[in-house]
Amino acid sequence: MCQRGRLIIISGPSGAGKSTVVRRLIAQCPLPLQLSISATTRPPRPGEVHGRDYYFVSPEEFERLRDAGAFLEYKQVYGKYWYGTLRQQVDEALELGKWVILEIDVQGALTVMEQQPDVLSFFVHPGSREELERRLRNRGTDDEQSIQRRLQVADEELAYRDRYKFEIINRDVDAAVEEICRTLQQYAIGVEHAG
Ligand code: 5GP
Repeated sequence: MCQRGRLIIISGPSGAGKSTVVRRLIAQCPLPLQLSISATTRPPRPGEVHGRDYYFVSPEEFERLRDAGAFLEYKQVYGKYWYGTLRQQVDEALELGKWVILEIDVQGALTVMEQQPDVLSFFVHPGSREELERRLRNRGTDDEQSIQRRLQVADEELAYRDRYKFEIINRDVDAAVEEICRTLQQYAIGVEHAG
């Protein structure tokens, strides 16, 4: 039997480079990390793949899953689309000893933290609002209205950053990945039981 894995949350304003950090973390950090794939009613962006980036579902299917209790947490993000963490997928991975990463918004994160206080939570952000706006514009995937909405949500989310165990300023992706990995490795050797 293997030891149950740990649950990890990574949140932060969209455009903070979160997805890149998570992808690199999984590729580079020598722990059995696994990304939880959420269900969403948002349509796929170009290049996104069903089952890899998200499970893209209809609003009806999302409602059915929600009513069946399939979500560990779920949330309407940007007042438009629904996103939810699939409970069974997370539990099965944890049972297999995986360290499961939830890349979810602040409200979803707070819900999970209440249920599971030992979750390792990271708030990743680019350091300043100007830098965030620059990154959102450079990404080129959002129209002006979406950018403004994302910036507004970012301002609201920043207010919650001290609810997280760790704050990571992502000025440099390599450094951010290394910092998160180092922190996780300390937990892998049982830092919370030390002293
Ligand atoms: P995007 O549409 O850019 O992929 O994601 C928008 C926001 O939804 C991001 O902040 C992302 O972290 C969040 N998100 C993605 N999946 C989930 C989920 O399952 N639950 C919650 N609460 N937020 C999610």
